[in-house]
Amino acid sequence: MGRWQVYHIAHSVADALDALARAPGPARVIAGGTDLLLDIEQGRHPPVHTLVDITRIPELTAIALRPDGLYIGAAAPLSRIVTSPLVVHHAQALAQACALIGGPQVRNVATLGGNVAHALPAADGAIALIALDATAEIADRRGRRCQPVAELYRGPGRSALDPQGELIVGFHLPLRREGQASAFRRVMRPQGVAIAILNMAVWLERQGDVITAIRIAAGPTGPVPRRLTATEQALCGCAATETALAEALTALLAEAHFRSSPHRSSAAYRRHLAAVLLRETVMAAWDEAGSVRAEAVPTVAS
Ligand SMILES: Cc1cc2nc3c(=O)[nH]c(=O)nc-3n(C[C@H](O)[C@H](O)[C@H](O)COP(=O)(O)OP(=O)(O)OC[C@H]3O[C@@H](n4cnc5c(N)ncnc54)[C@H](O)[C@@H]3O)c2cc1C
Repeated sequence: MGRWQVYHIAHSVADALDALARAPGPARVIAGGTDLLLDIEQGRHPPVHTLVDITRIPELTAIALRPDGLYIGAAAPLSRIVTSPLVVHHAQALAQACALIGGPQVRNVATLGGNVAHALPAADGAIALIALDATAEIADRRGRRCQPVAELYRGPGRSALDPQGELIVGFHLPLRREGQASAFRRVMRPQGVAIAILNMAVWLERQGDVITAIRIAAGPTGPVPRRLTATEQALCGCAATETALAEALTALLAEAHFRSSPHRSSAAYRRHLAAVLLRETVMAAWDEAGSVRAEAVPTVAS
């Protein structure tokens, strides 16, 4: 017998939600399948009766400028996100994060919706979205709502979504303004796949030599992807100097919960890497924020 009984290709959000609700057994949304199929195959996911493929729904694969900001469909393949001029301009941290996920084959099918819904604390796409203050548009059979990405988690591998009654339609991100920029950095084991030893995304706004607003997310720094608000406070209102970075590192080491994990890293090594990543990621965003030119802003859909 196969690993599932029904594979339904949905052509609209309503069709996908109906198929999930009508399934006579456990049903799951499938996008790229790079997490879900491995989990089913390797016994980490309970048996599934129906898979509902959402990758042919036009709304879920669009990347576009909208009146409220940048929209990225939850089932747009990562390879399109990486090369989208809109994403590269308005959400550099996200383009940089997606470019590092897996290899080309994985990026051609894997999606941002899957990266978020899989709910790993160091998922690269999720960490970038949180630093960029993204909200997820979520559909169920009653309608739609928008919720900050950072609120979509219950614990490691546990999203707050009802897997048989809800799906992420797409993500809404604020547009980049003059003096704003973002960056993503991570450290992987050289032969590693899937999850970073440590990753970090920084979004900041710079006026002259002062950071006037900043968001930092890093993983794994706890059971769910999260912002490091004390670290942000240590840098806000300062120039990106050695002194400010040293104070921010003290705050980071106090608020991040680093664990030793058998296949990736000791907690001590993560603490060491935190200093390197904090400096590199903040400085990348700081330098970029100082070099933004308004005429470089793309306005077309991609
Ligand atoms: C070789 C390899 C390397 C990888 N490298 C990395 C890496 O470097 N960094 C990293 O972060 N990840 C990595 N991953 C993990 C994976 O590729 C990503 O998490 C990917 O973004 C998942 O997207 P997907 O479309 O394949 O999700 P799927 O496997 O299709 O789905 C994953 C989960 O999300 C749910 N889901 C999917 N879409 C939605 C939606 N729109 N709404 C609600 N629920 C949804 C599914 O039901 C399932 O539970 C790697 C995986 C592999 C196999």
